[in-house]
Amino acid sequence: MIIKVLGASGSELPGQNSPCFLLDNHTTLDAGTISNVLNEEDQYKINDIFLTHSHLDHIKAIPFISENIAISNTPHNINIYSIAPVLKLIKDNMLNNFIWPDFTVIPNIQNSIIKLIDLTIEKPIIIKDFSITPLLVNHAIPAVGYLIKTDDNKRIFYTGDTGPNDTIWDKIGQIPLDCLIIEVSFPDKLEELSIISGHLTPKLLNIELSKIKYPPKHIYITHIKQQYHALIKSELDDLMIDNLNILHDGYIIEV
Ligand SMILES: [Zn+2]
Ligand SMILES: [Zn+2]
Repeated sequence: MIIKVLGASGSELPGQNSPCFLLDNHTTLDAGTISNVLNEEDQYKINDIFLTHSHLDHIKAIPFISENIAISNTPHNINIYSIAPVLKLIKDNMLNNFIWPDFTVIPNIQNSIIKLIDLTIEKPIIIKDFSITPLLVNHAIPAVGYLIKTDDNKRIFYTGDTGPNDTIWDKIGQIPLDCLIIEVSFPDKLEELSIISGHLTPKLLNIELSKIKYPPKHIYITHIKQQYHALIKSELDDLMIDNLNILHDGYIIEV
């Protein structure tokens, strides 16, 4: 599987886009960044979007890709998956005909550009050549991470936004993950803010990693607040974790 990082930043600045990971050109994890980095042809290859939660930095490409499909008259629709509370927040607060047109009924309900599909926590669904399972994480609002298993037995876990978590690591199984994409948002000095807002610091990351019985083969850091990038990088370097990399927009992960 090829994972293209369309955005991996926890704050938006020029060249620093919000989280979105494109799997094999047809599926995304989160939707913070799509239409401002992919050309139209590539946007319309996307069939499925898996949202971790409803915070704006993870959903803000949805209105624009929907509108592009509508304007271009492309016969295309996109399935948006998440747990029910996340989808309800998006429907009620974004696709509500006030903030943006309700593309779940445009051009009509049967052929709507956007279809919202509920997932059940810990129940996998199959998308093309992989299965994907939502697992509950610890954030300020309802949020999940996604465990992906490919046909060739590769396993990837994307946390989305999460603070410290005592239950999730047992659920990723007894085989090392091939790829862990995990957030670190703040430096160590902002640990209290991190915990209140449901995020990690390098120190909190290290504690989370110590809870994983079967260490991941590769660890990728996402969602850094760019204002603290240098400090967070030096704190991550101090952890001396060999197989850890900090993601940036445009990064390609081969799993
Ligand atoms: Zn969030
Ligand atoms: Zn976020």
